[in-house]
Amino acid sequence: MNEDQIIIIGAGPAGLMAAQILAEKGLKVHVYEQNKAAARKFLVAGNGGFNLTHSEEIESFIQKYDAPEIQNIVRNFDNQKVIGWLSELGITTYVGSSGKIFPTKNFKPIQVLKAWLTHLESLGVTIHYEHRFEDFDESFVYFKTTGQEIKVRYSKLILAMGGGSWKKTGSDAKWIDILRAKNIEINPLQSANSGYDTDSGLHQLAGQYLKNIKVSFGEHAKVGEIVFTNYGIEGSPLYYLNRFTRKHDLPLTVYLDLKPGLSETDIVAALQASHNKSSVLKKKLKLSETAINLLKTLDKETYTNSESLAHKIKYFPVEVRSLRPIDEVISTSGGVRFSALNSQLELIGFPNVYCAGEMIDWEAPTGGYLLQACFSTGFWVGNSIGNS
Ligand SMILES: Cc1cc2nc3c(=O)[nH]c(=O)nc-3n(C[C@H](O)[C@H](O)[C@H](O)COP(=O)(O)OP(=O)(O)OC[C@H]3O[C@@H](n4cnc5c(N)ncnc54)[C@H](O)[C@@H]3O)c2cc1C
Repeated sequence: MNEDQIIIIGAGPAGLMAAQILAEKGLKVHVYEQNKAAARKFLVAGNGGFNLTHSEEIESFIQKYDAPEIQNIVRNFDNQKVIGWLSELGITTYVGSSGKIFPTKNFKPIQVLKAWLTHLESLGVTIHYEHRFEDFDESFVYFKTTGQEIKVRYSKLILAMGGGSWKKTGSDAKWIDILRAKNIEINPLQSANSGYDTDSGLHQLAGQYLKNIKVSFGEHAKVGEIVFTNYGIEGSPLYYLNRFTRKHDLPLTVYLDLKPGLSETDIVAALQASHNKSSVLKKKLKLSETAINLLKTLDKETYTNSESLAHKIKYFPVEVRSLRPIDEVISTSGGVRFSALNSQLELIGFPNVYCAGEMIDWEAPTGGYLLQACFSTGFWVGNSIGNS
């Protein structure tokens, strides 16, 4: 095969969005994917609530991202544009109670993907499955497919091979060694949107939820829900804190505020008003059964003293021993540094080679912000090439 063409590696959300934008401009696009099917991680994301973006107003929306470069790219193709794009595919959406945007119940994740793939097919996009990207040079990209090695000439090459979590979806981050060998600057991948391994004392609470609590680390805090597991804790407030905790040595301590709406002084007063601590916790302070079970893990002296118990209700310490392994987490931080890319997301030193999606070094919490940035970077690269 020896054609001159636009090639995209990776049929995930970022690669497919770039393909759509380019094909809509009348350009011929070939997507190469190592799996037998497209967008497996996109479908996995659909298993536990398919947050395609978030309804937050754009100024606070972009603050969820850690780098100004990605903020700018998300602003350019924002949540409203994602909703509009889905609507053009025939996918209706609704805003959930937490502000997250989901497809309406009549659309399963596979139907969203099928609608997108059908649209891409109608635009003439070709997806070559079971083609594993092995390398590239200034003219060719090299693949392994069904036991043979092939090379394909490219005019523009977009790398959209994802981060490093959930390897079984195809996002195995093997591209890191290939790009590092070319001296492309890459920050190591780390667990992001990750749960925490905690001391074993809390494991007895596995399966129990704490809702509407505040989790804090230093000056950073987030209200939400966490769940105890047989290794520690999981939940969106922790995912939000990852960015800050990761910079510190382990073990470290995060604090749970089990009653964010009341001051410590008010809680002390409520506890002092009765000898029956359990009754005050349940009936007056209206703490959940899980919160009370958690407080019962305290030593007797702390539990029976109103001041020390109130303090633990506001600042229950949880020792974090480690983040969960990369393969289990929702996303990874790290990847191709923005300093290795120009404003078009083209690799400096490798003209005509671009990056998109989670393989670039940005990070954001869950809640639709991850897919949003993947769509936005795909859109950005598609336009960078299509308008050049
Ligand atoms: C359990 C889970 C739940 C999630 N839930 C949400 C959510 O609700 N909302 C949200 O915003 N985000 C969610 N995410 C994150 C989101 O799915 C990812 O951020 C997003 O899929 C990344 O898109 P991408 O296109 O950059 O890469 P990917 O989706 O990882 O796609 C990369 C593609 O490249 C292919 N590839 C990799 N290497 C090669 C190679 N060498 N040759 C050829 N092909 C290759 C892979 O097979 C894959 O198909 C979730 C993730 C997980 C794991």
